Amino acid sequence: MTEEKQNKPGAKLRSQGKQPSAGKTAAAAKSGAKTTAAKNPAKGSRSGRSRHNAAGSATQQAMEQTVSLVSNPLAQNAPKPSGPISHLTPSKEFKLKIIPLGGLDEVGKNMTIIQYGEQMIVVDAGVMFPEDELFGIDMVIPDYSYLVENRDKVLAFILTHGHEDHIGALPYVLRDVDVPVYGSALTLGLVKGKLAEFKQPAKLITVTPRQEVNIGPFRVEFIHVTHSIPDSFALAIHTPVGIVLFASDFKIDLSPIDGQMMDFGRLSALGERGVLLMLADSTNVERPGFTPSEKTVGSTFDNIFLHAPGRIFVTSFASNVHRIQQAVWAAARTERKIAIVGRGMQNMVAVAKELGYLDLPKELLIDIDRVGSLPAHKVLVLTTGSQGEPLSGLTRMASGEHRQVQIVPGDTVVISASPIPGNERLIGHTIDKLFKQGATVIHEQGDGVHASGHASREELKLLHNIVKPHFFMPVHGEYRMLVKHAKLAQQLGMPEENTFVLENGQVLEVSRRSCRINGHVPSGRVLIDGLGVGDVGNTVLKERRILSESGILLVHMVFTRKKGTRILAGPEIFSRGFIFEKEYEHIIGEIKEKVAGLCTAENLADGSTYDICNQVRVTLARFLLERTGRRPVILPIIAEV
Ligand SMILES: [Zn+2]
Ligand SMILES: [Zn+2]
Repeated sequence: MTEEKQNKPGAKLRSQGKQPSAGKTAAAAKSGAKTTAAKNPAKGSRSGRSRHNAAGSATQQAMEQTVSLVSNPLAQNAPKPSGPISHLTPSKEFKLKIIPLGGLDEVGKNMTIIQYGEQMIVVDAGVMFPEDELFGIDMVIPDYSYLVENRDKVLAFILTHGHEDHIGALPYVLRDVDVPVYGSALTLGLVKGKLAEFKQPAKLITVTPRQEVNIGPFRVEFIHVTHSIPDSFALAIHTPVGIVLFASDFKIDLSPIDGQMMDFGRLSALGERGVLLMLADSTNVERPGFTPSEKTVGSTFDNIFLHAPGRIFVTSFASNVHRIQQAVWAAARTERKIAIVGRGMQNMVAVAKELGYLDLPKELLIDIDRVGSLPAHKVLVLTTGSQGEPLSGLTRMASGEHRQVQIVPGDTVVISASPIPGNERLIGHTIDKLFKQGATVIHEQGDGVHASGHASREELKLLHNIVKPHFFMPVHGEYRMLVKHAKLAQQLGMPEENTFVLENGQVLEVSRRSCRINGHVPSGRVLIDGLGVGDVGNTVLKERRILSESGILLVHMVFTRKKGTRILAGPEIFSRGFIFEKEYEHIIGEIKEKVAGLCTAENLADGSTYDICNQVRVTLARFLLERTGRRPVILPIIAEV
């Protein structure tokens, strides 16, 4: 391949963008050497966290084993090329395919396939919690049938961070596609807990910032970013056609709680070398300016903790370890003991403490039973329930349904989270209940008790300016957010035709010079209901919707054809959710008459039970629609003995 060929007029490089495939220049060779040096885990590891190194080297062996299982064209000791891995380019160069299975036109269930030839890796495997219209459904995960069909081509899952919308689907997907999972120590710590619940074994490989691993035709580099959970990564995926930078959830926090800065050094080095395609978080593209630092919440906490007259309750996402840390520090400074309520919060605190992400001295912790025995101003309760979830600690305390703790006047409740879209009403209810109990509730945006974990517009601009990608595909967001993020890239100078807003299942085909949407694979949602995965289909959902809207009417009758056809019992009418207030009671009488009219000795003697049931259903449906305007589910149970 020649330089010329890549500089074809059609290439339309951005003015400030670098040639994305400068694979073979002397300068690139130099930066290649730099990359190898940067690969030294010691250099990228966090000070005072030697566990990373230990974990890294222990798992490196495991990883090499794994890699040798899959066909790995990169010899372990081959020199690391820079930019596109040109010497690997097979005689026939494939197109790189980016296939989002979730996370587009929605907030949640993030999952993206990166495929080259016959090999693919999967970035994240998340869940989404359902909207109201999914009756009784616990969770939604991406339709991953494309992965199942291509099971033997899938090399690994790569996790960017430990949020549910990025790891929650793993236990389900691994049942069908059992491949190694790469992630940071905290991410995998959380995954481990999940897999244990499902008794699902898996090969988990811990990676550290700036580590690079070879997986099939890909070299995946992990780059530390700041976000609302520690140990989050952006990924630089080095592929035979160029570098793909996947900036999953991030914010640019210049004063992070754990002192771990976003790795601008690596991002700009990659930008200088030439990034072919960037995918980036669009969640906060509609917010102007910069997202405030997590640290701002800490000073608000200090203020509240100093002045609150009685007990303090703080609720936030359990995964927001930095938020919990700041509440812990504020409690320590004001000599409060800490009780933890809610399984999610207890699990998270346990994992984060064990892995060294949370500084929470044992002597600060008290059992929830002891809260009553301490003076009110010596107590902090950390609890789940920031989304108003009906069974969470806070909601139960607010409704007086918690066994050990009730909310009383003098309590201060801090809701340190913003509602996930769709949860506003639930949270509103909980806040109302807290007010009714006489608590002081601090929950509003302007109160400074929450800072988002996602980059606002100016931060996104900064990322685009540093990375300078040639092509751009916005991810993680509702459709309008994706479009706005593409527009933002265009405002920064990217040609419109270089930005790609996709829908789940669409295939983005990328070569060294071109990029286009071409074809699609199966996509959609798989509903998780109790223990069932995907066994609730649209028919069941429709039935649940009808049941919820109009209720059910059950007609029960027993008859015999022996010694003369006659009715032995019934008809009896039962209804649920189909309102029969007193004024409607006479309708029951009419229903019975209708049924008796249909179930004459003559009809019963001739017809099949199935036909009789059908007649009853049709006749009653028509009658009830006329009389009540409702269409309940009608269930005739007519038995012959
Ligand atoms: Zn996310
Ligand atoms: Zn996240």
